[in-house]
Amino acid sequence: MRVTEKVFWSRVERSESPAVCWPWKQFVTDEGYGVVSYAGQKAVASRVAWMLVYGAIPSGMCVRHTCGNRACCNPAHMALGVPTINKGRGGTPSQRLSDAQMEQIRQRYLGNQASRRLLAQQYGVSVHRITAVINTLPRDSPCRKLSAAQVAELRRLRVERGLTLSELARRYRVAKSTVFSLVRQTELN
Ligand SMILES: [Zn+2]
Repeated sequence: MRVTEKVFWSRVERSESPAVCWPWKQFVTDEGYGVVSYAGQKAVASRVAWMLVYGAIPSGMCVRHTCGNRACCNPAHMALGVPTINKGRGGTPSQRLSDAQMEQIRQRYLGNQASRRLLAQQYGVSVHRITAVINTLPRDSPCRKLSAAQVAELRRLRVERGLTLSELARRYRVAKSTVFSLVRQTELN
């Protein structure tokens, strides 16, 4: 059955934000590609999305995902490339996320805008990866800045109870280097 353009897009989990991935909602191959029956043929959903938005794919070129999520049908996440480059980038689905994407994930999750499962689909990574991102605060987040009381407590735990830098970093959810610099200041005083 042929799908019209409108039906095609109804099968894509489109977000208002062009920054997030738009996963194909229907059949996805083991390799992670969305499959659609289009113009009487089975086609890769992301390629169809590209063609609907930008027109025919020049011969000898392929559409590659800049987001690493092969099921993504967001044309803003695609670029034309030569097949060899795509091949080199293949393999397992990418778990890599940019700092900006990680920030979006945290904000959308903390703002109750999306579940971890939905985020995993939209960013083309595992739920486990999403959980890790949510649990990691960005380096420049205000949440990372400890209050004076917390710093005093952290130093006390280090001196009196001998907690390791790693233990303190986990407890206060700050980088180990942050703990190191705070502890070092005490030890120099
Ligand atoms: Zn994408």
